[in-house]
Amino acid sequence: MLVGMTFEQERTLILVKPDGVERGLTGEVVRRIEAKGYRLVAVEMRTAPRDLLELHYAEHAGKSFFEPLVEFMASGPVVAIVAQGDRVIEGFRSLAGATDPTKAAPGTIRGDLGRAWPTAVTQNIVHGSDSPESAEREIGIWFPLLGE
Ligand code: UDP
Repeated sequence: MLVGMTFEQERTLILVKPDGVERGLTGEVVRRIEAKGYRLVAVEMRTAPRDLLELHYAEHAGKSFFEPLVEFMASGPVVAIVAQGDRVIEGFRSLAGATDPTKAAPGTIRGDLGRAWPTAVTQNIVHGSDSPESAEREIGIWFPLLGE
């Protein structure tokens, strides 16, 4: 019993991207989420339609990597996860590591499992919301029926 401590039961949206699913890394990603003490609130495998992905990545619209990113994300099933826990948004970003698997620290999902070549930055195994606002928006996109 942890007396006197308060916990923010925050939620985040995590995706195991098509490369992670294809390589059989879904279980390893889920293992790391649960080992850290976060709870799974929702898990669903699906091949996302382009319009959903364009909405999800709206902040990157117009950037050079946007089209290849959407194309890649639509290329096969992803596993969408809502995880909950104390500061889980920041915590999962730490578990995931830097965007570029080459630069991601050992011990992180991308650092340990991300391939530096030939897939480079786009195919980096996981997505995790980067702020409370993004988390709320992204959970609404992927799990519109999920209540508070
Ligand atoms: N991405 C890419 N090329 C880049 C930067 C990003 O293909 O130069 C992809 C990559 O899959 C990344 C996603 O776009 O995970 C979203 O980019 P962001 O900068 O938000 O990185 P993240 O928050 O996923 O680490």
